[in-house]
Amino acid sequence: MQVAGLAFRDVGGYEWHGNHLRPTHHKELRDWRARYGTPWLTYSIVISGADAGCGFRSFPEGFECYDVFQKEPVLFAIAAQLWVPREKGDLDKKAIMEFANKWGEIADDPKECGSDLQTWYANLDSICWIAQKLKQPVPMNPRAAKKMAEQLRSGLLNINLACDVITVPSGLQSRLMVIGLTSSLRVQATEAVVDGWVLRHCENCTKPIAADLSREDRRYCSDSCRVQAYKKRRRKALELDGKGKTIIQIAAAVDTDVKTVRGWIKQQGK
Ligand SMILES: [Zn+2]
Repeated sequence: MQVAGLAFRDVGGYEWHGNHLRPTHHKELRDWRARYGTPWLTYSIVISGADAGCGFRSFPEGFECYDVFQKEPVLFAIAAQLWVPREKGDLDKKAIMEFANKWGEIADDPKECGSDLQTWYANLDSICWIAQKLKQPVPMNPRAAKKMAEQLRSGLLNINLACDVITVPSGLQSRLMVIGLTSSLRVQATEAVVDGWVLRHCENCTKPIAADLSREDRRYCSDSCRVQAYKKRRRKALELDGKGKTIIQIAAAVDTDVKTVRGWIKQQGK
């Protein structure tokens, strides 16, 4: 069965009112919910691009929905970066707003309109805990696995799920839907532990990246970051060459092998 993580965000953005974060189209959302409840089936249909054939032909004005698992496989780790330990002070409201503008709210109840700072804190706390674990490979001897399962289970107790059937070229496909951003992030984080992921940061832009055990050498989040990092190294190497550094010094400084550095310098001379 295919699995989707359904989340939605206000395209118009979010704004803080005191400690309450509110979507721009909160009136439209409230009206929509008063009329239809929370029609997750509609969100699912919108994501799959199928025609809504079940009475819900509209969608709350100003909102866009997306599949968390498709769109950003490490969103839980990006969210975890928002977390601040209590002794170090409050969460950064501006950072939370920026996250919400891009991904929507990490709220408890998908029926609520808007979310408060306390809710963000509690939800980020549980996600961050898992992201912390993934800094190194999680040892999985039977005893450690049992303990880990117990800890992960507590985060999965209140997951919202629904089922759907969609049409595909070959006929029908059933689909399990994890409902809402909070539930989706918890499932995503749990899957990361189960699959033995290790979290790193892109060496170019510091975005979290997941390296499974077969790809432990992964250093960049994307091809574009890999290329940018390459260009940066090359530029710096040529700069150091201009300052009269030896090839060996340059190679060490830009973390590149001597042969490559020699090639760069030779190329430039032409
Ligand atoms: Zn990057």
